[in-house]
Amino acid sequence: MQAYIKLREGLSNLYSADEATAIAHEYIESLTGLKKMDRLLAKDDLLNEVQYTTFHKDFERMIIGEPLQHITGYQWFASYKFIVNNHVLIPRPETEELIQWLVEECKIKTAISILDIGTGSGCIPIAIKKKLPTANVTSCDISEEAITIAKLNAQNMNTSIQFIQLDFLREVHWKDLPNVDVLISNPPYIPVSEKENLDKNVRDFEPATALFVSDDDRFVFYRKIALFGLQKLNPNGAIYCEIHQNFAKETMAVFNQAGYSNIELRKDIYGNDRMLKVFL
Ligand code: GLN
Repeated sequence: MQAYIKLREGLSNLYSADEATAIAHEYIESLTGLKKMDRLLAKDDLLNEVQYTTFHKDFERMIIGEPLQHITGYQWFASYKFIVNNHVLIPRPETEELIQWLVEECKIKTAISILDIGTGSGCIPIAIKKKLPTANVTSCDISEEAITIAKLNAQNMNTSIQFIQLDFLREVHWKDLPNVDVLISNPPYIPVSEKENLDKNVRDFEPATALFVSDDDRFVFYRKIALFGLQKLNPNGAIYCEIHQNFAKETMAVFNQAGYSNIELRKDIYGNDRMLKVFL
């Protein structure tokens, strides 16, 4: 228990009390393999010498804000365990809801083709492929390092997905991407000017390319996705995307101006405007 308390206290400057407690429990569980209840029942400190050395190293990393997932190396998402590192965004629960939306609406169709834009850890295409096994799933990302992690996750989860490394913002590359029935994306959408408002663990340790867009062109990804959709979506196709909670109206306007007349907005479990489904 001593290590747990030390960690919880060390994290209390960076996180809320609930978050610090949850992180400390999860860390000790991943270190010892023991569930919270088993640890609570044992009165003594449970760490052996090797674990203690590891704990001290990890403690120093965590109290400067390094995310737990970078220490343990994984994050659960849609009930699958994804390998993560500092080259990929740590999968968020909001994104599970976006996938849920797509899967509910597409599960009656077989052999549907889907393109995910900005794969990161691969959490979106892999979770979709798991839930829609007949779907043909392609995914792209600008980062070579992210593609490496995504491929590793796809392999670990026995899913077959085509991963393509390219810069989606450069339209010359679109010829390398397939025509599809569905587009899905959780693109970067935080204006750099909001960087200082983010938690330290996100701001200093998660990849900037996955998070930020310039203030002058904050909807650049949505504009390009809309345009790409006009060129590459099959008839009756649809786009599902995650959005910045404070810019729902503006993001919807981007699609509307591009010619999409059907735009549906949904909130996430926290009640924030978080995702759109769009079609012509
Ligand atoms: N939702 C993420 C966050 O809270 C941001 C994801 C993104 O920019 N696509 O940091």
